[in-house]
Amino acid sequence: MTETLRITVWGEFRHEKKNPKVAEIYPQGIHETIAAFLRKEEGFTVRTASLDEPEHGLSEQVLAETDVLLWWGHMAHAEVSDEVVERAKRRVLEGMGLIALHSAHFAKLFKALMGTTCSLKWREANDKERLWNILPNHPIARGIADYFEIPSEEMYGEPFGIPTPDELIFISWFTGGEVFRSGATWQRGHGRVFYFRPGHETYPTYHQPEVQQVITNAVHWARPTVTIPDDCPNCLPLETLPEDSAAAQRSTVGHK
Ligand code: ZN
Repeated sequence: MTETLRITVWGEFRHEKKNPKVAEIYPQGIHETIAAFLRKEEGFTVRTASLDEPEHGLSEQVLAETDVLLWWGHMAHAEVSDEVVERAKRRVLEGMGLIALHSAHFAKLFKALMGTTCSLKWREANDKERLWNILPNHPIARGIADYFEIPSEEMYGEPFGIPTPDELIFISWFTGGEVFRSGATWQRGHGRVFYFRPGHETYPTYHQPEVQQVITNAVHWARPTVTIPDDCPNCLPLETLPEDSAAAQRSTVGHK
């Protein structure tokens, strides 16, 4: 049986409107380029959303109907409303998958889920990036060789201010000599989070087959395994408690 996955690709969609160089590479926006290759995958239902739509295109209903959310943002992280961030974070904790791309290391949503600075070193100087596949048995590395290269990219360098990842799948090396943890996973609540480094807006990175393969693999991997709404119930015992312990139970959990 083919799995059916409902995917929302969120793009900030500002650089594409302001910088002709970016518009030339991504005429419909970075998010639409990503959505276009994901739509080729059997069983994927893909929609897009962007910052300037009402509620940034991420209403309660859209998020309720999203199994995996992808996020690309850069110049306008601060314009994303805290209410929408909280809504998306809650969905991750309930079981929705999240894939944070490139400069989304500083997105409010990613930072909220990590709880750390998410800072890094950076340089825009046409470095070559070589991504080493250090966990080749992982589903996100399916079809990826020992390494692959991106001819020109922005450099991101360590130390990267993230919590130690649950799994580290790719490490990047750059021409300038730096290294970076460029493909990493975390479990957050019931949801799965994957951070993938490549994707600076002035390079055609999201047109590259290996990058598309990793993102497609990651969407499969991040699918919800459960959906459990957040709740914190006071509950009755399943068995009949001895009289004394029942009284103790009431006194500790009951209202004063
Ligand atoms: Zn960048």
